[in-house]
Amino acid sequence: MHLIIAEKNISANRIAQILAGNEKVRAVKEGSVSTYSFDNKTVVGLKGHVVEVDFEPGYTNWRSEIHTPRSLIDAGTVKKPTEKKIVNLIQKLSKKADLVTIATDYDTEGELIGKEAYELVRAVNPTVRINRARFSAITPAEIRTAFENPTDLDFALAAAGEARQTVDLMWGASLTRFISLAARRGGKDILSVGRVQSPTLAMIVDREREIENFVPQTYWMLTLVTEKDGVPVEARHTAGRFTDHEAALAARAGTKEPLTVTDVKEGQKTDRAPTPFDTTTFIVAASRLGLSAANAMRIAEDLYMNGYISYPRTDNTVYPKSLNLNGILETLRGGVFDADVAWVQQHRRPVPTRGKKESTDHPPIHPTGSASREALGQDRWKVYELVVRRFLATLSPDATWTTTKCLFDASGEPYTATGGRLLSPGWRRVYPYSEAKENILPAFVPGERLPIRKVNLEEKQTQPPARYSQSRLIQVMEELGLGTKSTRHEVIGKLISRRYVEGNPLRPTLVGRAVTDALDNHAETITEPEMTRTLEEHMQLIKQRERSRDDVVMESRGMLHQVFDKLEAHKKEIGEEIMEQTAEEHTVGPCPVCGHDLRIRHIGVSQFIGCTGYPECRFNISLPGSTWGKAIRTDETCETHGLSHVRLIRKGSPPWTIGCPLCSHIASNIEALRMMPSMTDDLVQRLHAHHIYTVSEIAGMQPHDLTGAAGVGPEEAGRLIREAEDALEILRRRSELRKFVRKIVPPRKGRSHAKITRSLIEQGIGDIRALSRAEPTALKKAGIGDAGASELLTAARGLCNERTLREAGVSAVSLKKYQAGGVASPDDLCYLPIPYLSSKTGINPETVHKHADMVCRHLGRPAPAKVTRTALERGRKELLAVPGIGEATVERLHLAGIYDAATLREADPEEVSSITGIAKARIRDYISHLK
Ligand SMILES: [Zn+2]
Ligand SMILES: [Zn+2]
Repeated sequence: MHLIIAEKNISANRIAQILAGNEKVRAVKEGSVSTYSFDNKTVVGLKGHVVEVDFEPGYTNWRSEIHTPRSLIDAGTVKKPTEKKIVNLIQKLSKKADLVTIATDYDTEGELIGKEAYELVRAVNPTVRINRARFSAITPAEIRTAFENPTDLDFALAAAGEARQTVDLMWGASLTRFISLAARRGGKDILSVGRVQSPTLAMIVDREREIENFVPQTYWMLTLVTEKDGVPVEARHTAGRFTDHEAALAARAGTKEPLTVTDVKEGQKTDRAPTPFDTTTFIVAASRLGLSAANAMRIAEDLYMNGYISYPRTDNTVYPKSLNLNGILETLRGGVFDADVAWVQQHRRPVPTRGKKESTDHPPIHPTGSASREALGQDRWKVYELVVRRFLATLSPDATWTTTKCLFDASGEPYTATGGRLLSPGWRRVYPYSEAKENILPAFVPGERLPIRKVNLEEKQTQPPARYSQSRLIQVMEELGLGTKSTRHEVIGKLISRRYVEGNPLRPTLVGRAVTDALDNHAETITEPEMTRTLEEHMQLIKQRERSRDDVVMESRGMLHQVFDKLEAHKKEIGEEIMEQTAEEHTVGPCPVCGHDLRIRHIGVSQFIGCTGYPECRFNISLPGSTWGKAIRTDETCETHGLSHVRLIRKGSPPWTIGCPLCSHIASNIEALRMMPSMTDDLVQRLHAHHIYTVSEIAGMQPHDLTGAAGVGPEEAGRLIREAEDALEILRRRSELRKFVRKIVPPRKGRSHAKITRSLIEQGIGDIRALSRAEPTALKKAGIGDAGASELLTAARGLCNERTLREAGVSAVSLKKYQAGGVASPDDLCYLPIPYLSSKTGINPETVHKHADMVCRHLGRPAPAKVTRTALERGRKELLAVPGIGEATVERLHLAGIYDAATLREADPEEVSSITGIAKARIRDYISHLK
């Protein structure tokens, strides 16, 4: 059997389909792992790495005296399976194999993954032949060529990957432990440090500091507006930026008609077609389409796996000679790009454009198959189209522009205007991602005199450097040799997920800054790019077989020991520096009551802002629970309260910005305060001045405390407290109503329960009881459909009935029986005859009477007549003795209050008939039998 091991399940499937040709591929699931078989071949996919490198056992206790963070530098490592099912299946299949082909991605990481697979195979089958298929695109041509010309695994390339893996583990684990322990952080709050991550973070922190320390300089720009043939033209003073205000004013004063054209220069400019995509330029271009680096790479990988584009991790910007450019163009004919491809074929530039970097492993990113918008979906199509258009652009002629530069003289002050006109669009025809801005000047003639319509002197300020966008950061990382084409976007992703940086463009958080500063102060090797760059260079040497893996790892160990010499000497300071800075992370600002710091507190899922002066000061502001997002402070400050703004962040959803917590606290409570009839704006102001913001605070006060705060007499204070209690009660009921509606009317997109409840309240439906009496039209108006409305009304009525009966004193057990009998409303108990209720529920008539009596009293209604069980039993016998009356008729008569001979005798046949449905004649007949 020939076993083929691919990097992922999806590529395994595609490779099998391609190699099988017309033959049918049998897909079988073993455990949860798929295999694809045809002929004597079986293809199986890995999940990238299926084993991981970890330390030998014994290093798990962070606080161990023997296994200190430093000891991790020299700790032995082991490989552990992370995907047991895949590992087991590969080994099972390997035993039966007589040939194994490794078909993982072709780069350092892919070679290492291939070597891991190689070792898994060798462990169970020491003699089987193992070879390697290398390809840059999962297309029929590439795959067939790769399998027809297999090579051997490149152990040097894999060793370079292994060296990086080991060094990263060693640096990351030892430093993360050291710093976290120093700053007394554990669990979810550990402070991670990484070989590539820390220098990258340091760049973001440095940029932020540059921005903060930036002192803007004022300068002035002088322009004038002239006109020719009705076309206004702006010309700027040739001095450019005036840094001296006096000089600018003088130049403005000197700018006078006549304005004379002194020179007109025409020229041509070529606008080079863009170079082929490598990973970095691709990410930059994709970011202009609104895709983050990680997203762009994820989508590109998906397109690669499905055979639409070539391998997206590449440093190469030069198409290799072997790449069949004409073939690719033909592939793209016939689809959406047909007209563009035809144009490119007709106007091909002699040689495609080429970038600065040339490598042999992968070609630049290019399309490998045709696709349709429908098949790919929006985002994948966006990326695919970008790759296709970029490819077309690299084969298209340059664009050319004619440029015009005009010089003017305004009575001694020199001005200039430049224009540009697109002469031939070239590649811009097929690559519309950057706009060609034309500025067409009228035809000026030297010596010509023109009017001056306007002179503008504009004051401006120099701007600080911009924060890094993700794509810009990836470019700079590449320039500095930080990370690789495959890892850069992942490193940025980690910085975000570890909450070291936030926002786009990227800003460091307080923790990010604290950790960087501490490392910078005591062991700058960790935050500077040199060490990381050196390792990348060493890896290159390993690939070229000029250094060994062990040698490089040893050197890195030595460097790390030097770092620890410095760190351990200053452990205490490092810890204190970080702790001091990060405490700020939760501090929101001064408490309005006592002036101590207010801090964000997290206790389980609840979070609030509390005063550090607690328990003397009990001031606090509640926040939505952490299920809505973890509360963090932002850089903005409230001008009124001097408090930092607060935001709730939750993975996978947009942040919820609360703003100033006190402003938000005031705003969300003001409506409730206004519900108190005696509340005036003036009174609100006075209460706020005494830091009383909520009705519940007022309701909880003693009158004499309130007199001081509100400046009112004791009697009025008492009234205010009662009004606050009433308002609280109304609020409690509203909140109950809101929860009730949410429970019954299921949430749906575009239906906000807050909105529904608001509308109900506006219509005077402020609690569940009011809801039970509401008209269906009111519910409809609140946005609830027919079915929902009737369900809601039924549920509300049921709940209110239940409450009334319970309040009146009916026990829970009896209540259940009334509900089961379908007679559970207060009206049922007050107005239905006791015998009927008793027979419907099986509760004895004395108890039913007691209940009916309680409910009637509770509702202020006249109590019903009592019927004893004996009277009822006797009456039943009397009724059954009447010819024509059976058990069923007895029950129907009960409904009309007839339970014995006497009540039947006095009955009005017409009324009884209308209640029971028994014919009048028959009732008369029964009565006549009794007479
Ligand atoms: Zn306080
Ligand atoms: Zn505020």
